Amino acid sequence: MLIPFDALVAKIAALFRANGCTDPVAAVLADNCAGAERDGCKSHGLFRIPGYVASLRCGWVDGAARPRIEVSAPGLIRVDGANGFAQPALAEVRARAAATARSQGIVLVAIRNAHHFSALAPDVEPFAEDGLLAIAMVNSNCEVAPFGGRKAVFGTDPMAFAAPRSGHPPLVFDQATSVVANGEVRLAARRGEDLAPGTGIDRAGNPTGDPKAILDGGALLPFAGHKGNALLIMIEILCAAIGGGRFSHEIDRTGFESGQTANTGQTLIVIDPTAGGGALPDFVGRVESLLSAAREAGQERFPGDRRLACRRDSYSRGIEVSQETMDSIEALSQT
Ligand code: NDP
Repeated sequence: MLIPFDALVAKIAALFRANGCTDPVAAVLADNCAGAERDGCKSHGLFRIPGYVASLRCGWVDGAARPRIEVSAPGLIRVDGANGFAQPALAEVRARAAATARSQGIVLVAIRNAHHFSALAPDVEPFAEDGLLAIAMVNSNCEVAPFGGRKAVFGTDPMAFAAPRSGHPPLVFDQATSVVANGEVRLAARRGEDLAPGTGIDRAGNPTGDPKAILDGGALLPFAGHKGNALLIMIEILCAAIGGGRFSHEIDRTGFESGQTANTGQTLIVIDPTAGGGALPDFVGRVESLLSAAREAGQERFPGDRRLACRRDSYSRGIEVSQETMDSIEALSQT
């Protein structure tokens, strides 16, 4: 089936409302979830809906949470997500974060006690559309072994970056810090396909590319060995230690075993690129000159190229969704 973006958003919003989310929370999550599907991020679009619903139905996450914002220093905004989702908490604080970045040059937003179950690109992209730079990180479910380790301690902890460009949509990269995202492992297991050898370890700590062994008591590994491992340590500290969030290995689902989302922390750093004295056209000109140098050196594909191409295609043709997925959305919308 080919479904227009707005129609898909409406269907998903109805599903979230039927599962205990308030109208504003349902609207933010539906836009986010349909947006991931529209942009070709299949591991964090409709595929995640059963996980959202299971987490809401068992009370692990609160779809009616009201985030609390506290400005604890001129450049630091802390947000208690009140055990709700991270994206509605970010929606509450977004305008304040942008205004503070413009007045201070830079701001750090630390969201704790919040669940992030999606791609990070939608969190950073709007800042860059407004001429700001944004970096976002989330520590997620405990699924990644440290470099040389034999059991999971870290999350797949994604990070994303967005920068404004001249005459183009923002440059955005968005990636897990594990070899692949957990969603990719689950999709590979569902398809019966192996991942690259050494994507993870099995329950005995042996390297493996078998998705079932990784999911069944094993763990993923950091990308690029010790270098990815270093980024994982940084993300865990920035997300869980500044704002008071949980480390990935501290998530405790006792009593909420069917919950799938991660109650951890998200940190965003938002920067006004003109705070150093230059004008925005000069800054975006510098971005273009860097990208041109990379292009001249032979780089043909840049981060975000595939995502934006998928987005264009989804708007012109509609978003391709299987009948089975639509039936499942319909079924999960019944309470
Ligand atoms: P990918 O490895 O597919 O892509 C990572 C980045 O690299 C993207 O910006 C991508 O651009 C870019 N890229 C990919 N291939 C190339 C290439 N050949 N040349 C240049 N750039 C390239 O992403 P991951 O699998 O690591 O992550 C997938 C998603 O999972 C992300 O959205 C992430 O936020 C999400 N995630 C969320 C978690 C959570 O807890 N909420 C946990 C872990 C991951 P493009 O987008 O255009 O392909």
